[in-house]
Amino acid sequence: MSNPQKFDAIVVGAGVAGMYMLHKLREQGLTVKVIEAGTDVGGTWYWNRYPGCRCDVPSVEYSFSFSKEVEQKWNWTELMAGQPEILEYMNFVADHYDFRRDIEFNSKVKSAIFNEQDKNWTVKTDSTLESAEESKTYVARFCVMATGCLSVTNTPNFKGADNFEGEVYHTGTWPKEEVKFAGKRVGIIGSGSSGVQSIPVIAAKAAHLTAFQRNPVYTFPAKNRPLNEGYMEQAKKDYAEIRAGQRHSQSGIVYYAPFRKKRSETSSTAAAKPARRKPSKTLLELTPDQRQEEIKEFGYGTIAAYTDVLTNPEANKIACDLYSEALGELVHDPEVAAKLIPKNYPLGCKRPVIDTDYYATFNRENVSLVDLRESGIKEITAKGLRTENGEYEFDILVYATGYDAMTGALNNIDIQGNEGRKLVEKWEHGPRTYLGLQTEGFPNLFTVTGPQSPSVLSNVIVAIEQHVEWISDCIKHMNENDHQSIEAVKSAEDNWVEHVNEVAKGTMYTAPSCNSWYLGSNIPGKERIFLPYVAGARTYREKCEEIVANGYEGFAFG
Ligand SMILES: Cc1cc2nc3c(=O)[nH]c(=O)nc-3n(C[C@H](O)[C@H](O)[C@H](O)COP(=O)(O)OP(=O)(O)OC[C@H]3O[C@@H](n4cnc5c(N)ncnc54)[C@H](O)[C@@H]3O)c2cc1C
Repeated sequence: MSNPQKFDAIVVGAGVAGMYMLHKLREQGLTVKVIEAGTDVGGTWYWNRYPGCRCDVPSVEYSFSFSKEVEQKWNWTELMAGQPEILEYMNFVADHYDFRRDIEFNSKVKSAIFNEQDKNWTVKTDSTLESAEESKTYVARFCVMATGCLSVTNTPNFKGADNFEGEVYHTGTWPKEEVKFAGKRVGIIGSGSSGVQSIPVIAAKAAHLTAFQRNPVYTFPAKNRPLNEGYMEQAKKDYAEIRAGQRHSQSGIVYYAPFRKKRSETSSTAAAKPARRKPSKTLLELTPDQRQEEIKEFGYGTIAAYTDVLTNPEANKIACDLYSEALGELVHDPEVAAKLIPKNYPLGCKRPVIDTDYYATFNRENVSLVDLRESGIKEITAKGLRTENGEYEFDILVYATGYDAMTGALNNIDIQGNEGRKLVEKWEHGPRTYLGLQTEGFPNLFTVTGPQSPSVLSNVIVAIEQHVEWISDCIKHMNENDHQSIEAVKSAEDNWVEHVNEVAKGTMYTAPSCNSWYLGSNIPGKERIFLPYVAGARTYREKCEEIVANGYEGFAFG
């Protein structure tokens, strides 16, 4: 090894997590190098430039809470920001804090190996650009994996995949250059969130779009809109309150609505007005007629909001039936509507998808739907693809086939801990972590929003901030107390894994009929294990705080 560069910490990934980790470690005066495979910051929002990509959390809440200056300077323009605006925001934050000077771009970490004697990590990279320099070696006491829960794309291994002669794209690695759809026939495989978001936008531009759908999802209107005048001014005044609410909520979202709140608080006539009607809390307390009335009044999105839908199978069954009825009204052709109806799995087993005009798109003359449950894809051909029912031709093929979630990016790196033990081998039958922050046998290695933490079951930025703050406080504690290393204790890890599985039992997420990326079901051969922690972000935060208060219970310092 020739003169490796030395740092206090190496952070892998320059998305939300990597940027904030850099900020927190810099604050402590530590030397940090962030290594990022892409050519700039932003992570998810750098890679997923596909048409229609949009956040499912209100913009003011899907933002960093650590910077009061950025909060006051930045203005969101839409209720749920689209990818270009979020990426612009990430760049704004990176410029503001001059993050790029500590980030090495175009560089992919291929291995991270722990040296037990020196208690440090050797991290090796590969360039992602053919023209760039050879690989580099770094040595650091701490290694923080900020590699993302949804950063490794999944492309099914179809026979003949290389034969297609037209343009091929994956929504998760969308090019920076504009893809021109006008006058082209497009085939799109996948009907998860990326498919649902991109199909309406592509269909509006293309000559024809064929959507190949295997598993239809439950999707609800995003209700996105430009922000009202005065919204941002008010939000800037309310940020402290919004952030406190987010941190103490189970989902990391408070659904900030400034004018609703202000009117009721300040208007002298408000008290005289009848209170605004709200949907009921549970579905089972309503008669069939009342259910119809509420759906009419509040929209069919309300079906997912009844609290018993996620916990009571009977309520869930009713919700699924109501959903099918609503869908039947939105899609004109009954045969197409029947194909779009999710079947045989409960509402709430997957992260709710939100859309803009998804079902209405199937009323367009230039859109057709192929149900792959009737006849699967046999092969990709030079001109399109073939199912058992025949061949479909198109000029552009889009894979909207998702990600190898939660463990994909970690398993892609050759991570070796004590005695050369490989992480992929330890996790052969599913990840094992303590709090999703560390894994036993891999000292001084931290994972931001690692498996078995709330991560994707909440507003992910809130989950990231909590993890980054925990890790940075832990490193500070170690430096103040002359600890060289920290490692999860095996019994604490075993108990945590058991607890994570226990709380997921009996929820819609782990229903036997549920096949989701939360369970790894979208990746052939991946162990069926529920990956995130379901008990809620607030509950989890409190547990993490309690563990620190008890002297980092379940962790061993060396
Ligand atoms: C299409 C899409 C929409 C989403 N929408 C929402 C939403 O509405 N609300 C929400 O809360 N969450 C959403 N998410 C989840 C989203 O991933 C998080 O909100 C957040 O952006 C994650 O930030 P991160 O920094 O943890 O990971 P990422 O943003 O994924 O960044 C990880 C970075 O690590 C880099 N990396 C990985 N491995 C290596 C390696 N070996 N070497 C070098 N670099 C590496 C990657 O290139 C990437 O840039 C969405 C995800 C996707 C994919």
